[in-house]
Amino acid sequence: MSIFSSRSYNEHEQVVFCGDPETGLRAIIAVHSTALGPGAGGCRFWDYGATYANLSDSERTQRAEADAIDDVLRLSRGMSYKNALAGLRLGGGKSVIIGNPRELEYDKIAIAFGRHVQKLGGAYCTAEDVGTTTGFMAKVHQSTEFVSGLEDGPYASGDPSPYTARGVYIGMKAAAAHKFGSDDLSGKHVAVQGVGNVGGSLVKYLLEEGATVTVADINQDNLKRVQSYGDVTVSDVKNIHTTDCDIFAPCALGGAIHDRSVGEIKAKIIAGAANNQLDVEGVHDEALRQRGILYCPDYVINAGGIIAIEAEIHKEKSTDAIREPKVRNIGQTLSNIFSKSDELAMPTGVVANKMAEEIIKNARTAKDQAAE
Ligand code: NAD
Repeated sequence: MSIFSSRSYNEHEQVVFCGDPETGLRAIIAVHSTALGPGAGGCRFWDYGATYANLSDSERTQRAEADAIDDVLRLSRGMSYKNALAGLRLGGGKSVIIGNPRELEYDKIAIAFGRHVQKLGGAYCTAEDVGTTTGFMAKVHQSTEFVSGLEDGPYASGDPSPYTARGVYIGMKAAAAHKFGSDDLSGKHVAVQGVGNVGGSLVKYLLEEGATVTVADINQDNLKRVQSYGDVTVSDVKNIHTTDCDIFAPCALGGAIHDRSVGEIKAKIIAGAANNQLDVEGVHDEALRQRGILYCPDYVINAGGIIAIEAEIHKEKSTDAIREPKVRNIGQTLSNIFSKSDELAMPTGVVANKMAEEIIKNARTAKDQAAE
């Protein structure tokens, strides 16, 4: 398995393989960049081998490890770009723990993982992601100070989802202004895929503004919850992306935009919270551009959550007066990306990547010069 030459490696500063024989911990911490601040990004606890259940033990392990490495590297770079374009004092990092959270000793694994985070001396600061909870982070906190997303403590910032939803709403309005000539969403039809923490709050904003809303979710309780907010139409999960609407908002899992779905989308704008919406960056956003569909790069529009916890990472108290201007700025950043994309005839995802890379490069140069 190649690492340095893999596409996902992308000039990472540090990749650390962590083990602990006592608990069976196998984790990878990737620090893409600390040019703008500590490498910030969540910890994913995922059974990478489950997809390969029909293979032999050794083959399954090999495939699972390769997927975990690819995942952590892609996610870590994504955090660098997200934090750079959100104007935060944060670099990018991410970690993955390989295994089934239900089969391993969750609390002990958390403490062992925290010890490895601590050894990095602040180059990486962890938080919740898929498979980890605030309870897990409280355990991680027993062995490291470099953890955020805590429920208690002087700097605890609480649930970031409402801020993510607000950023998506603001970004959606910026996209509407660019595409339709007005940011007014009243009378616009929005299809929301996934109405969990973020998608649910987004539906509230949309109904308040008078938008027509169609939703789909595999979770009946979440569907019931958003139906209590007002008049929403429920669509089936398989076809939500084909809804004849103005805006499609993917707020479930990643990979909503792929070879098949890209041609089936009828919306003129894609603006949603899900991470890694494009199956292949530069390919599927280009396909959308050619079809006249305005794509809001996922890591730009969903930055509200990390904006909400930035202060906690720096051991500072945050307030809405600090967060709100940064969340509002998501709209301006997207408008700049849309204009550049039009000017250069380039997909919005590629434009966003280039803008982020320049910010990180300039910060690195300034840091190196200051150290000389
Ligand atoms: P969540 O788990 O609360 O909600 C996700 C919802 O999607 C759930 O209701 C789930 O049932 C539904 N879902 C899953 N598969 C589906 C499918 N195939 N079709 C339709 N619905 C499906 O998660 P969340 O916190 O709301 O996050 C949503 C997305 O936004 C995720 O991709 C997450 O990585 C991303 N994101 C979240 C935050 C945040 O602050 N929570 C920040 C940045 C990015």
